[in-house]
Amino acid sequence: MALNCPRCGGDKNRVEYQGMENGAVLWTVHYCTACCFTWRDTEPALSIDPARRKKVFQIDPSHPERFGVVIPPVAR
Ligand SMILES: [Zn+2]
Repeated sequence: MALNCPRCGGDKNRVEYQGMENGAVLWTVHYCTACCFTWRDTEPALSIDPARRKKVFQIDPSHPERFGVVIPPVAR
């Protein structure tokens, strides 16, 4: 089943892992190759339903200049 990314809405997702028990899939972890978001299909709707997620957490990967400030790495 094709899924759209909860964060960017894209369809470039892949299955990273599936939790199984007695041969049945209980949950699936997906990874979005467009925005690098990772989610499990059993997370709460507030985390994975685009209609319920806070808009501030949504991103458009075609416009990285609009991303929030990225914390610089710690000097070592
Ligand atoms: Zn995405």
